[in-house]
Amino acid sequence: MAQLIDGKQISKEIKEELKAEVEALRAMGKEICLAVVQVGQDPASCVYVNNKKKACAYIGIRSEAYELPEAVSEGELLALVEKLNHSEHVNGILVQLPLPAHIDEDKVIRAISPDKDVDGFHPVSVGRLWIGEPGFLSCTPAGIIQLLKRSGISIDGKECVIVGRSNIVGKPMAALLLREHATVTIAHSHTKDLRKITKRADILIVAIGKRQFIDAEYVKEGAVVIDVGMHRDENNKLCGDVAFDEVSEKASAITPVPGGVGPMTIAMLMNNCVETMR
Ligand code: NAP
Repeated sequence: MAQLIDGKQISKEIKEELKAEVEALRAMGKEICLAVVQVGQDPASCVYVNNKKKACAYIGIRSEAYELPEAVSEGELLALVEKLNHSEHVNGILVQLPLPAHIDEDKVIRAISPDKDVDGFHPVSVGRLWIGEPGFLSCTPAGIIQLLKRSGISIDGKECVIVGRSNIVGKPMAALLLREHATVTIAHSHTKDLRKITKRADILIVAIGKRQFIDAEYVKEGAVVIDVGMHRDENNKLCGDVAFDEVSEKASAITPVPGGVGPMTIAMLMNNCVETMR
C-alpha cells in the first residue's frame, strides 16, 4: 500500500503558518483584505466562496463579499473590478468562476490588476511564472508542489508526466515542475499511446476531469501519483481521476480524494493573499 499524501494535514500546517504571519503583520498595523466577487448563486460556487471566506476568517484576512445578480452586465462587473483595483484597502481580488455565458471570462481576468491577482490567472502572472519571476502562482499547482515537498518527495531530476493541459492546472503545473528542475511531459486528449507515456513517470499528475480514468495499467511500479480530479461516484461518494484502490497497490505514494489536492487549493489562495504584503 502506498504512502498517503495527506492534503488535509499539510493544508492545516500551511494555514497555521499563515495565521501566525498575519498576526505578526497585524501587530505592525498591516491588515490584508480580499475582495470576493460572485455573480449569481450557482450552488457549487456558493460552497467554494463560503469555504474561501471561512479560510480568510480563520487566518485573520478580512474578506469583503460582492454578490452580483446573475443578470449583471459585463460592463458593470468590469466597473466593479476597476473600482477594486484602485481601492487602497483591497489587497487581493477574486472573481469566482465560472461566470454566466454572457460575460467574457478572459476579459474579466485581464481586467484584474496583476498586483491583486491572487488566483494567478492573469496573463502577466502566467508570464512571470514561465520566466521565473516572482508573482502569484496558480493555486492548485502551487498546492501540489507543497504536497510533494512537505511529504519529503524530491522533484529535482525526476521524470514528471502531467495528464491535462488546462490553463488552471496542467500548464502552470508544468512551469512549476520545471522550476523545481524536473523533466516534464504534458499529455492531453491528442496524445498517442498515453499508457506508454504515463508509465515513464516517477511523478504522475492527473488532471483530466474523467472519473477514475487512470488505472494501474497507466502507472509505473513505485511512482508517486497526484490526483487532481474531483467527481461523485455511483454511490455519490467523492472520487478522483485515478482508480485509487488499484493504483495505490502499485504507487509508492498517492493523494486520496477527498483529502489530497482539494484542501491545498484554498491554502495556497490564502498564501497568495499574504503574499500581497510580503
Ligand atoms: P479541463 O479544463 O477539462 O482539462 C482537462 C484536460 O484533460 C484537457 O487538457 C484534456 O485534453 C485532457 N484530457 C481529457 N481527456 C483525455 C484523455 N482521454 N487522455 C488524455 N488527456 C485527456 O480540466 P481541469 O480544469 O484541468 O480539471 C481537471 C480535473 O481536476 C477536474 O475533475 C476538476 O474538477 C478537477 N480540479 C480540481 C481542483 C482542486 O482544487 N482539487 C482544481 C481544479 C480542477 P485537451 O486539452 O486535448 O482537451
